[in-house]
Amino acid sequence: MTTQGPMTQPPATENLLDLAPDAAMARLQAWLTERGEPSYRSVQIFARLWERPVRAFSEITELPMALRDALTRSFHLSRLELATRQTSVDGTEKFLFRMDDGQLIETVAIPDGDRITLCISSQAGCALQCAFCATGAMGFQRNLRPSEIAGQVRELHLMSPPIVPTNIVFMGMGEPMMNWKAVDTTLSLLNDARAMGIGARHITISTVGVLPGIVALSARREQFRLAISIHAPSDELRATLMPVNTKYPLADVIAATAAFDRRVTFEYVMLGGVNDQPSHATQLAQLARECRAFVNLIPLHPGGTMGFIPSPTSTIAAFARALRVRGVETAIRRSRGLDIAAACGQLRTERLGRRLPIAANEDREIHVA
Ligand code: SAH
Repeated sequence: MTTQGPMTQPPATENLLDLAPDAAMARLQAWLTERGEPSYRSVQIFARLWERPVRAFSEITELPMALRDALTRSFHLSRLELATRQTSVDGTEKFLFRMDDGQLIETVAIPDGDRITLCISSQAGCALQCAFCATGAMGFQRNLRPSEIAGQVRELHLMSPPIVPTNIVFMGMGEPMMNWKAVDTTLSLLNDARAMGIGARHITISTVGVLPGIVALSARREQFRLAISIHAPSDELRATLMPVNTKYPLADVIAATAAFDRRVTFEYVMLGGVNDQPSHATQLAQLARECRAFVNLIPLHPGGTMGFIPSPTSTIAAFARALRVRGVETAIRRSRGLDIAAACGQLRTERLGRRLPIAANEDREIHVA
């Protein structure tokens, strides 16, 4: 921390970490020009935001001290405070981060051979209230900013030893397509070679099927991956599990997914006695073929899932076979981090206790922010 004299200015609030790479570079160049500094400094400074991140501008030792001080006075370099870190026996690690306003979000790091997949949050809480999901039960709190979404990846880089992911999935807390503007910027920060440099094919956005979000994602040129949380093969059943189905019915989600010109994954959480019967597999196979989708069968994570029980292993295996014989590529997802409550929203719920959803009414309206 720099100590300042009696002429102390209020702390800077402008945050370069909220800007996409081009916008951040432009802002830095303008700032440097105002000060009569050479514009190549913008490349040096930007590299220290994401590519080789620093905790504070004072750590950018390749810059003159006066310039580091000027950066500190002009810009806020936001951090996420680590509240809890838990390690599973299977190597999965779960991080609970506290943001500036005290809100808590979760990030999960899942090692698998030489890959590390990071599961990141896009909202604090969620408005969608899927019946089996712990995040839904806490209600919608607020959208995250790019500095808070990409910031989760940044914070793991800053740990010692650093955790550097090979893959990113937007499968933490929240519905990414209902915070599209921030997610759009975040995708650039994750993918841009000047920032995190993670290949687009290694970045997956998971959605319940918010149609404008699917359209917005397909408008991007990069090959980002799309995952759709289907969870039921008929409107009737889906509406009982996912209230969003009234706003975006299954037929519309399937049509939008079939029109998406890149590989799509269906996420299907196996709920004992609810959506795991042979007739469901037959219906799901039809939808998956229409979308040329790959199906991921997800064993229900047991913690905090009111009233639902996981399907037996043998039922999941039979369901997978029924899909495969109908020509649908299917994988059974291994449950990871069971001992650390590593499913959507479970760690925060463990910490804060279950609460009634707040602001459920005002946030029911689905929109792409
Ligand atoms: N809102 C987005 C992304 C966050 S959830 C979406 O719904 O796709 C990421 C995935 O975890 C979703 O498929 C969600 O349905 C699933 N999920 C939520 N709770 C779960 C639980 N208890 N067990 C297994 N999967 C769960």
